[in-house]
Amino acid sequence: MRQSKLFSKITRELPKDEASFNAQILIRAGFIDKVAAGIYTFLPLGLRVHNKICNIIREEMNEIGGQEILMPGLTPKDVWETTGRWGTFDALFRLAGSDKKEYALGATHEEIVTPLVKKHVFSYKELPAYVYQIQTKFRNEKRAKAGLIRGREFSMKDLYSFHETEDDLNEYYKEVQKSYFKIFNRCGLLNLTYLTFASGGAFSKYSHEFQTVTEAGEDQIFICDDCQIAINQEIIEEQKGCPNCEREELRQAKAVEVGNIFKLRTKFSGAFNFNYKDKEGEEKIVEMGCYGIGPSRVMATIVETSHDGKGIIWPEEVAPFRVHLLRIGQMDEAAIKKVDSIYKELLEAGIEVLFDDRDVSAGEKFTGADLIGCPFRLIVSEKTLSQNKVEVKKRNEEKMELVSFGSLIKFLKK
Ligand code: ATP
Ligand code: MG
Repeated sequence: MRQSKLFSKITRELPKDEASFNAQILIRAGFIDKVAAGIYTFLPLGLRVHNKICNIIREEMNEIGGQEILMPGLTPKDVWETTGRWGTFDALFRLAGSDKKEYALGATHEEIVTPLVKKHVFSYKELPAYVYQIQTKFRNEKRAKAGLIRGREFSMKDLYSFHETEDDLNEYYKEVQKSYFKIFNRCGLLNLTYLTFASGGAFSKYSHEFQTVTEAGEDQIFICDDCQIAINQEIIEEQKGCPNCEREELRQAKAVEVGNIFKLRTKFSGAFNFNYKDKEGEEKIVEMGCYGIGPSRVMATIVETSHDGKGIIWPEEVAPFRVHLLRIGQMDEAAIKKVDSIYKELLEAGIEVLFDDRDVSAGEKFTGADLIGCPFRLIVSEKTLSQNKVEVKKRNEEKMELVSFGSLIKFLKK
């Protein structure tokens, strides 16, 4: 993409009430725009990152048998009454329709997915079933001061699993755990992300959160450095020491919950009378699990954990573009054409390029490239052109290298 054509710009002006680092830097670099507290627009650069995170999640969900669907954001009151959550879900946005009926903006989708799967699944032959969606959620969050970490409107991947037995649920639950680590690895968060024990409610001893350590976190976790797992604030009171090795000294840290997994067991299948016929033709209740990840929160967490004083440092798989190509200094028409042809060659080789072809100072281009944070910065000037070379620098390294036109694509693809 040519930066001269990009309608969204780098800006120095920030909304006065924006206190969170992730939102500030994403606004300055032109990834998002703030509409109101906890409500943001994704601009072209931001949407590219968000889509990449969603696609990583999608690939890994498909890998463990997930089938993608899309449920509505607007949901009728009666299903929430069936489960008793109309009155108890604090953060639910409730609204009236013109038909005098009441609705809720979807904050989570057990109330929609359980009756949905019940319409299609009747016998043990059709179980297990795994469905997921990546969708906008709405929650009337009291504190919406952490930028994309806590939106009032935000994206969520929610997977729901349906099983014959608790054992089968337990097996799949472990599989999802592994899948989540793959996702956080691909998003560059693996080293800071801990499987965290949380209390499981009435139906199981534990649920698990995936907590990424950062000062921007709103949660406190207690890490066992021997087992590389953690415990959340709530259960630390009952659970003295590591649930795995019983070690007592745990390291306290602030963290963001980027995902969580939960054995729902029969809480929702019970409410909706979702039974199946087993091999003997006997009616049995369906066992359920639910598994969430917030892509927009993941995006913010990456920014919080991967930046320096100059800007964002995107991990390769989620970067808006792999390469930021900068045309530097005054050039004659032939030289400009040459840079254009380098840009085209990179595109033809399937490399994603943001091409800073604007007529602005070199300093402004460098500052912008550091702020936006693509993994590779390529500089072409009269000087490098005269040697048939491009200057290449990785965003997370200081070292610069001159690479010849002929070997550039190979260099960038490895
Ligand atoms: P929290 O305790 O942080 O409010 P939660 O327990 O309400 O999270 P879930 O309801 O399980 O979270 O949602 C699943 C995932 O959706 C979370 O792990 C998180 O990644 C994301 N998420 C939840 N609430 C928000 C929000 N307000 N803004 C952005 N992402 C969110
Ligand atoms: Mg919440």
